[in-house]
Amino acid sequence: MKPQNHRQETVETLLTWGREQLEHGSESPRLDAEILLSYALGINRAAIFADPGKSVTEPYSTHFMGLIAARSDGQPVAQLTGQREFWSLVLKVSADVLVPRPETELLVERALARLPENKQAHVLDLGTGSGAIAIAIATERGDCIITATDISRAALAIATENSGTLVPGRTRFAHSDWFDALVDTTFDLIVSNPPYVATGDTTDREIDFEPAEALYSGADGLNDIRRIIADSPAHLAPGGYLLLEHGLNQAEAVRGLMQDAGFDGTQSFKDLAGIERVTEGRLG
Ligand code: GLN
Repeated sequence: MKPQNHRQETVETLLTWGREQLEHGSESPRLDAEILLSYALGINRAAIFADPGKSVTEPYSTHFMGLIAARSDGQPVAQLTGQREFWSLVLKVSADVLVPRPETELLVERALARLPENKQAHVLDLGTGSGAIAIAIATERGDCIITATDISRAALAIATENSGTLVPGRTRFAHSDWFDALVDTTFDLIVSNPPYVATGDTTDREIDFEPAEALYSGADGLNDIRRIIADSPAHLAPGGYLLLEHGLNQAEAVRGLMQDAGFDGTQSFKDLAGIERVTEGRLG
């Protein structure tokens, strides 16, 4: 339902309407409405609170209503605005990449903790998507050499653009199906947020809008993780680390797969929701 036709819309009336529309379509209706209104008006979020009575005219109000309708259908806010904040960096996103999730910041934290201090480390980010992980690491460690891959050329285009804006010249990109294009290269640290959702396990409407190849990985969600773990030892320097993000209830399986592949000191780390989300191993 649209706001009443003959009324003059204001920031406040539109926000209230938007929030109500999203009550059942989003876990954060108020925030989503605020972000989408500020986007439609081309101003930042703080500015919409400065003058709630300010009138909003065409075409801005119609644009906002269209955004609310799309959000209500399940489209992620980040796809609607074309950007998402990750590690305090504003990344461009599109329907070609997974929207960077807050829990992936844990993977970045753990990777930074395992980067050797005393040498120029070679880092590999497999399946980089928007480039979030590689770029976050590049901003924190000016000394390391980073390679980022993706099987999707469309994703690589986004990652390359983000890298050019945020950390120009810092990351080498390669079009690759996991390790396939990385012959004769050895890394000190390999990091990946691969697809790990079990095929058919979709209860969340938002992920219907994201690329399936970035999300689903076979009946148990572990197909890609198995491939990455099996092929990592051949691409890691002795003592190098592999760090993987994974899903709920996969930590034990991931530790087991790493141990079978010759990794020591395997351990898992919990995200802010208390879910074991990242597992690491060190090549003995
Ligand atoms: N955490 C994502 C989700 O459950 C999945 C990300 C992934 O498969 N790498 O929506």
